[in-house]
Amino acid sequence: MYRSIILGTGPAGLTAAIYLARANMKPLVIEGPEPGGQLTLTTEVENFPGFQDGIMGPELMDTMRKQAERFGAEFKRGWVTKVKLDKSPFTLLLEGSEELKTESLIISTGASAKMLGIPGEQKNIGKGVSTCATCDGFFFRGKKVVIIGGGDSAMEEATFLTKFASEVHIIHRRDDLRASKIMQDRAKSNDKITWGLDRTPLEIISGDKGVSGLKLKNNKTGEEEIVETDGIFVAIGHRPNTKFLEGQLKTDETGYILAEPGTTNTNIPGVFACGDVQDHKYRQAITAAGTGCMAAMDSEKFLEGNRFIDWSSSV
Ligand code: NAP
Repeated sequence: MYRSIILGTGPAGLTAAIYLARANMKPLVIEGPEPGGQLTLTTEVENFPGFQDGIMGPELMDTMRKQAERFGAEFKRGWVTKVKLDKSPFTLLLEGSEELKTESLIISTGASAKMLGIPGEQKNIGKGVSTCATCDGFFFRGKKVVIIGGGDSAMEEATFLTKFASEVHIIHRRDDLRASKIMQDRAKSNDKITWGLDRTPLEIISGDKGVSGLKLKNNKTGEEEIVETDGIFVAIGHRPNTKFLEGQLKTDETGYILAEPGTTNTNIPGVFACGDVQDHKYRQAITAAGTGCMAAMDSEKFLEGNRFIDWSSSV
């Protein structure tokens, strides 16, 4: 039986692990299929405080992991298929039917950017295809980029990218944008933004130097066309990794865990949520790390109370 189990090894989970391990709580960290989380999919991280010259995403995550290990956090590779949160201690079932029990649980399983699933997409991630304008926009200074999507994220990222790119071309599969009016208006009034509505992305074209174009279908005429571009930002939404919870925790309608404002408490005492799995707004490594610290402190406080209850019940 563990005092604390942390699910996920992005900046939120690893920060929680550093804090809990340092507080002598000996957390077990379950490392899922994407160790290090979304940051391992990007190249250079230039906006994480403390790294004047930037740091490569995988290196940052590796350093955080080693820091957690230094204080005694234990790591285990595994895929949690089921959880039982209706009574304490909580039960986690890992693929292969191993069962783990824990007094407290920190969920930091993150969110995954939805991808288009078209040819050329996967192989160019980090080489011209990105899902994060804040992370990668800087690398497209003076270049032409394409944003795919018609929601608030696409409008926001397009507007942000105009700070760097010479032209930002928005591709959306319908004529109508899903984005709120204010976000649409902001994008429409920006001279650097051009529009390709009613178009379906078919293929990302690349060569030795990375991405060079996007093949599209014009949905009105059925004709195929190619837009030349140096970078493609996919902004078609994110999916929080909460399926394994099977509805046992309160989430919003899109699956993001609802944490009590100003804390990481979920609706079940002893279960905490941090990072992108509970945040569809900021989605930054530094904000995820911040909530990871909060989750460790909330969990530590819970465990102190729990220990008190255990002692009294055994007297
Ligand atoms: P979203 O609202 O779900 O929009 C996703 C967009 O991508 C839609 O326009 C959708 O097209 C398109 N799309 C989805 N799958 C696609 C595919 N396979 N191929 C091509 N296009 C595809 O996601 P979001 O923009 O990330 O926003 C998520 C939530 O966060 C929203 O509630 C939003 O309001 C909020 N948010 C708020 C702010 C802000 O207030 N500052 C900023 C960002 C996000 P269709 O329209 O045709 O379905």
